[in-house]
Amino acid sequence: MPERRTELATGLATTRERIATACRDAGRDPAGVTLVVVTKTYPASDVSLLVDLGVTDVGENRDQEASEKASSVAADGRTPHWHFIGRLQRNKCRSVVRYADTVQSVDSVRLVRALAKAAVAEGRIPDVLVQVSLDGDTARGGAVDGGDEAERDVWAVAREVAAADDALRLRGLMAVAPLGWEPARAFDLLAGLHTRFRGEFPQATVLSAGMSGDLEAAVAAGATHVRVGSAILGNRTPPAVT
Ligand SMILES: *Cc1c(COP(=O)(O)O)cnc(C)c1O
Repeated sequence: MPERRTELATGLATTRERIATACRDAGRDPAGVTLVVVTKTYPASDVSLLVDLGVTDVGENRDQEASEKASSVAADGRTPHWHFIGRLQRNKCRSVVRYADTVQSVDSVRLVRALAKAAVAEGRIPDVLVQVSLDGDTARGGAVDGGDEAERDVWAVAREVAAADDALRLRGLMAVAPLGWEPARAFDLLAGLHTRFRGEFPQATVLSAGMSGDLEAAVAAGATHVRVGSAILGNRTPPAVT
């Protein structure tokens, strides 16, 4: 455990330094960038160590794993802000709203309705980010800016969240750079959308973009939240081939 603490401290220090440098290069205040440490596949004990090292925000992408981990971490007396960042099925909304303070991966009108209903039932009001698919390939998750399908249109999804203001708080946008795209091109496109988005939804100030491999490009484009996993916790073991 002391070794693990040292590993995590080193990964964190390196990542914070990368964020600070990217902010300096962009003329931004590092206080404007929140580091969300993505702890998927790693144990609850790592989350507790990270919290002790000053981490305030953690991200998870699978409900069952996240739900168990959040319970263990709470039992361990730590209460980080939990972000749900993965594909979300409507029948998992009730479970997710119990622990998630922010749901970053909201990408359909039907999902918004299920999430709002779950939030009311659980007496919780999660922050919500609309996930954007920058290349229009919704198979990988995300709503589309000006797509021909209203169900998966960024604006229709956001209006549904804003209308459910007794249950959900619309806070901004999230995206992953599409495979094979230059990150700067992806995040510039996202930043342009975010500017227009804030025209209609001024409360939606959050821009979640950037991971271990491309956080500099995201900070340059104005990301307020970066989601970093492997650069801090180590490479995740690929799932066994069956
Ligand atoms: C896993 C994941 C991350 C973190 O990725 P790393 O490359 O490990 O930093 C960020 N965002 C999402 C949506 C993820 O699923």
